[in-house]
Amino acid sequence: MTIEKTLVVGVLALQGAFIEHINHFKQCQVESYAFSFVEVRTEEELNKCHALVIPGGESTAISLISQRTGLLKPLMDFVKSNKPIWGTCAGLIFLSKQIINGKPGQQILGGMDIQVERNAFGRQLDSFQQNLDFSSFIPELTDFPTVFIRAPVISKILNDEQQSDDADVIYSKNDYVNDRPVEVLHKLDNGFIVAVRQGNKLGTSFHPELSENHKFHQWFLQDFVVNSI
Ligand code: GLN
Repeated sequence: MTIEKTLVVGVLALQGAFIEHINHFKQCQVESYAFSFVEVRTEEELNKCHALVIPGGESTAISLISQRTGLLKPLMDFVKSNKPIWGTCAGLIFLSKQIINGKPGQQILGGMDIQVERNAFGRQLDSFQQNLDFSSFIPELTDFPTVFIRAPVISKILNDEQQSDDADVIYSKNDYVNDRPVEVLHKLDNGFIVAVRQGNKLGTSFHPELSENHKFHQWFLQDFVVNSI
């Protein structure tokens, strides 16, 4: 089959594990489609992307750098454009509509109707690895090695009634309305929600780009990027 056009997948490269995402994507193949994977630091680079990944790292730093480089507003506009976005760990925090344990002045993109709690596993369980079964949404992926590093969790799925003004919560300034329902993709045994989808936006508490397996990246290309064109 002929390849019609190259799909550009950007990885926000202000801070954090962006190279690891690009290396994982380079191992993926989707029949009939060609991709280019690019680091995104400017509005011009962002505007060329059909989809965006926001990596793990430190969400306060990603917020600050995006404000200082003038990329915050273009990122909020990218959210509004309804293109696929995947946030991992700090990226999940940045993509959400509300956060708790945020730093004063921390900005978030408001792409998903979720409240995310930063550093939710506390000190004892700062970082850990666990094999999880994702076969309910990624065929045959029964034993995926997940890496959690000072990870956030999805503490609440938001609905319209929950737009109150709580001093402990940081709210996104983006007025974007995601009109798709939030689906919980995975909960840990203790009930913590660690993977959610809302339309073509995906959020994971853990770092699929830090394990050896690229099946999560393959699924994102197939089910989010290709399906959105
Ligand atoms: N705790 C970090 C934050 O708040 C996220 C950690 C990570 O991305 N591994 O941004």
